[in-house]
Amino acid sequence: MSDIDWQDYSIETQGVRAGQQRTPENEHSDAIFPTSSYVFGSAQEAFERFSGKAAGNIYSRFTNPTVRAFENRLAVMEGAERAMATSSGMAAINVVCLGLLSAGDHVICSRSVFGNTALMFKNIMQKFAVETTFVDLDDINAWASAIKPNTRFLFLETPSNPLGNVADIKALAELAHANGALLIVDNVYCTPALQKPLSLGADLVVHSATKYIDGQGRCIGGAVVGNNALIEEKIYPILRTAGHTMSPFNAWVFHKGLETLSLRMEKHCSNALIVARWLEQQSNVEKVYYTGLANHPQHELAKQQQSGFGGIVSFEVKGGKNNAWKVIDMTQMISITANLGDVKSMITHPSTTTHGRLTEEERNKAGITDALIRLGVGLENAGDITADLHRGLSSF
Ligand SMILES: *Cc1c(COP(=O)(O)O)cnc(C)c1O
Repeated sequence: MSDIDWQDYSIETQGVRAGQQRTPENEHSDAIFPTSSYVFGSAQEAFERFSGKAAGNIYSRFTNPTVRAFENRLAVMEGAERAMATSSGMAAINVVCLGLLSAGDHVICSRSVFGNTALMFKNIMQKFAVETTFVDLDDINAWASAIKPNTRFLFLETPSNPLGNVADIKALAELAHANGALLIVDNVYCTPALQKPLSLGADLVVHSATKYIDGQGRCIGGAVVGNNALIEEKIYPILRTAGHTMSPFNAWVFHKGLETLSLRMEKHCSNALIVARWLEQQSNVEKVYYTGLANHPQHELAKQQQSGFGGIVSFEVKGGKNNAWKVIDMTQMISITANLGDVKSMITHPSTTTHGRLTEEERNKAGITDALIRLGVGLENAGDITADLHRGLSSF
């Protein structure tokens, strides 16, 4: 199968078929290689592998066949030359920072990023004299005016969590490249099943595989995907030395997760649209944030660069935090958890959990009010999900 060019196939087929390496046992599912090291046939072979004269595994902090299988499948699905798996989504972002940035460099980051991503730039990279400017995701002029001669990359998530703002990836890639910088897109919410940032000009994609790629909440992992030279020369050497490595077992789970990714994302999208439209009809709901709704200000842009709108729906209830907590606490089925990207629906109060470490001013700028609830819409029956929300929404 290794001589098939999976890039020519559609994403459903790529997810099921790309990147499988059979052992001589001819197993139909994929083997796992839980090994820390590898045996050399001779001292000469050991020498050749260590010196880079011969290809082959040395130690699983560097390479592992199961991890490589997952990387190859994900790379094909993102339309990329290379994917590099990492131990978590944050490890992916960290290894990109360590690989691409030096003291004195500058980064521009969307204000609406995953909480720990903002802290990575603000608290951790700042210790190493990397300066970050935070801007509004959908304000292209703000990105443009934040550019400095030492800007190395622009970093964003689109659509944003939890409010679903959309960035114009193509326009931002052009802006970055015109200024000698790279564009890095966190593609966690859409996954390659719904959005391919590299095809729109992004240089690197980062993933938390923990979310939709696994899709069933079992493992923590991540990946950096994109240009082979950039990853091989600047980023992989950091992983190899510093150990942001994914474990073989997790790689196997994610590899199998990719087999059902397209199918799951379709259902996440259709369920989310049903739930968003239902929420719009509820008298105690003030506002619904979902890019799939025609009245979302960036619905058209989302439609252009995504093939679906994803599974995250957020909404504001009347009466602020008390009523938001009421709706959350009166669910019986939906899981109260700060995670997302799971077959199980999940409900979160962002201002007191995922965004609780931001200052009030930062939260207000990002539009995270106390009335806001985030739903990670799962794969249960949509009517059962709305019924679970109705209990709280009809109680005040
Ligand atoms: C969860 C998440 C991350 C971090 O991933 P981990 O696997 O939890 O380290 C990064 N970006 C986004 C958008 C996420 O949702």
